[in-house]
Amino acid sequence: MNFNKCARCGCFFSSEDSVCPNCKSKDEMDKNLLRSYIENNDLPESAESLAFHSGINIKNINRFLNTKEFSDLKSSFDGSKINL
Ligand SMILES: [Zn+2]
Repeated sequence: MNFNKCARCGCFFSSEDSVCPNCKSKDEMDKNLLRSYIENNDLPESAESLAFHSGINIKNINRFLNTKEFSDLKSSFDGSKINL
């Protein structure tokens, strides 16, 4: 059996997810918040400013950016870094 360390609370649990069952609903809430922020606002130029404006923890934003759903968002941030 595989044990994973929860990306939110740090506890160990047995599943393929990146967060434990206790944190899963919080994770979903943050993702919903992120989705609606993206829909209703201009895109910030960095993950840091996205975290600041949306109120979502930067650690969680960076983790969401590494998922398939938000990969477009990640590449737009990566693209803006190159121009600096
Ligand atoms: Zn957890």
